[in-house]
Amino acid sequence: MTANPSTHGVGPSRLPLPLRDGFGRVHNNLRISVTDRCNLRCVYCMPEEVTFLDRAELLSFEEIVRFVRVAASLGIDKIRLTGGEPLLRRDLHRLVGMLAEVPGIRDLGLTTNGILLAEQAQALFDAGLRRINVSLDTLDPVRFRQLARRDGLERVVAGILAAKRAGFDPVKVNAVSIRGVTEHEVVPLARFARAHGLEMRFIEYMPIGADQWERNKVYFAHEILEQIERELAPLVPVEPAAPQAPAQEFVYADGGGRVGIIASVSRPFCHSCNRLRLTSDGKLRNCLFALDELDVKGLLRGGASDDDLAAVIRQSVATKWEGHEINTARFVKPERTMHTIGG
Ligand code: SAM
Ligand code: SF4
Repeated sequence: MTANPSTHGVGPSRLPLPLRDGFGRVHNNLRISVTDRCNLRCVYCMPEEVTFLDRAELLSFEEIVRFVRVAASLGIDKIRLTGGEPLLRRDLHRLVGMLAEVPGIRDLGLTTNGILLAEQAQALFDAGLRRINVSLDTLDPVRFRQLARRDGLERVVAGILAAKRAGFDPVKVNAVSIRGVTEHEVVPLARFARAHGLEMRFIEYMPIGADQWERNKVYFAHEILEQIERELAPLVPVEPAAPQAPAQEFVYADGGGRVGIIASVSRPFCHSCNRLRLTSDGKLRNCLFALDELDVKGLLRGGASDDDLAAVIRQSVATKWEGHEINTARFVKPERTMHTIGG
């Protein structure tokens, strides 16, 4: 008897069908925003004045874990926690511990602004977190305040160093790359990363935040690479750890470490996208730039079965578009800003 292809059961003798979309892309990666709150107000991400969600609107740890169990049964094996600022979610290490025990989850990561990291790094590591990305756009406290609309540079640097001490290896540092704003930060950041054994990653500025994005405000990947090679050392391209990873990876020819470039605008990686996103208010998105989303919280709180949750995950994957079309006149900026989706 042939298996019914519409069956998404995961009974003992049946393997789940992979989460393959209409373009053949298999999805194994889920980013979960655990809060929309933030202790910074980065200009490229969110407005100064915001009304945050009522806490009851956020998915509970138990709800997140239930969803992840179902997602893992369908082939999701990689999770990244994000926000808003995820370390503002009380006892986040407890959620990490719960997720680390979900069968099938083999890779747990976190993206943080680092402000609260020094206090939490060890507890997160001990709970099973292994990947960490800390966002830091500048080493200049005045520029930090301009970009983040808050102070905090020293705390972020302390957080990065605490993460290293706690055992995270590598610690990746993410900087958004904006023309006229961050060109002068590239070399100091790259030097800082080289000096402390960190992996520096530059992300092209994307049209998703609160401010007015224009293509000519993007300081492009090839310009960053040229600047590093001119002022620091030649770079040699290397194979990324995973073929679907969005970053192009390089090592310094002099052995001084590793650099990643995420060229979301100049070199979109939609063709190899393997990601889904769960927002803090429980909506499932199949693209950072998606214009539609599916309501997971309503299902979780409305008595839905695991099969219902599996069906919504499959629906999200099945309806995924080919790509974000940032570089075309057809591009439509989503209403949600980055902090409410989770980067
Ligand atoms: N608060 C945490 C942080 O800053 O790392 C996690 C959430 S934040 C939305 C995730 C990542 O998105 C950060 O690295 C941030 O720099 C990046 N980001 C936010 N807005 C962006 C934009 N318009 N273009 C490119 N990256 C952006
Ligand atoms: Fe907060 Fe991160 Fe957005 Fe900055 S990028 S405002 S730290 S959520």
